[in-house]
Amino acid sequence: MKRLFLIFICIPGVWFCTFAQNSIGHGHIGLYTMTVGEIKLTVITDGHLPVNPVQAEFAQRIDSTKVAKTLENHFSSPVEVDLAMNVLLLEWGDKRILIDTGAGGIFGNDSGHLGENLAYAGLSPKDVTDVVLTHAHPDHIGGLTDKRSGELLYPNADVWISKEECIFWLADIPDFSKSTMTDKTHMQMLVQVARRNINAAKNRLRMYNDGDTLLGCLQMLVAPGHTPGHSIVKIYSGNEELFHIADIVHSEIISFEHPDWIYNSDTDYKMAIKTRKEILGKMAETKSMFFAYHLPWPGFGYAIRKGKVFVWQPLRIAIPY
Ligand SMILES: [Zn+2]
Ligand SMILES: [Zn+2]
Repeated sequence: MKRLFLIFICIPGVWFCTFAQNSIGHGHIGLYTMTVGEIKLTVITDGHLPVNPVQAEFAQRIDSTKVAKTLENHFSSPVEVDLAMNVLLLEWGDKRILIDTGAGGIFGNDSGHLGENLAYAGLSPKDVTDVVLTHAHPDHIGGLTDKRSGELLYPNADVWISKEECIFWLADIPDFSKSTMTDKTHMQMLVQVARRNINAAKNRLRMYNDGDTLLGCLQMLVAPGHTPGHSIVKIYSGNEELFHIADIVHSEIISFEHPDWIYNSDTDYKMAIKTRKEILGKMAETKSMFFAYHLPWPGFGYAIRKGKVFVWQPLRIAIPY
């Protein structure tokens, strides 16, 4: 009871999970698990990231009425897209691999809960052997270090990042000229967070290139546009595989129904549109189930092609763990 009380004070949102967990005796409430071959996958939430105004971020140069209508047609808020923050933990042999680290304290209390939620998967941060970064945006790399002390939060983990991504963020002046971003303060924040975290990990940093296989179970595929080194991950074991498509998509509505709308945070929006269409096309063609960082919890599903665009079909889930 003492533990419940303490958790209630610190993180009210988690109290219900703990209560339910104690009531029905399962250890996976608030997590979602599955396997790929011999690998155990656990989705752990870092929280969520409400994005508004929608048009500025998701639909530059598109009529605002059309944007609102697109969302309302799916019974979704016309003024906000609420991004899930789905972090994947892989357990295989002696490996405990996190794909991305959540936002840390960068965006306030709605996100940055990966570290505490990891405990529900029975792990502490020091048990993590590898952190694999899909890219260095703050909602993916922000949780690598403590915001105040700058210390690495996963002290025993090697940190994997694509070479292109490192070169971009560590350049004297990262090139945003192919983006629609105009907010200088926002761009400065992106650069500062990426640099601070990459530099903090410099003694544990391991670079990967397009096509490299890592740790015996991952193949990294650079899928550029969102950022220059943005990578998707093929997770494989035996005859099974699953794609983690990272930030190829952000909204289960707009990114699928209008894959050619400009996403403002893409560093090269034209390339991002091309890459988005290619990857969604491949997922639809192969009927592959995939996982994405920002799609509604727990982030698993399929793309169905409808002419030149797509529809998101979430995995049907009957139980929460
Ligand atoms: Zn991103
Ligand atoms: Zn993201």
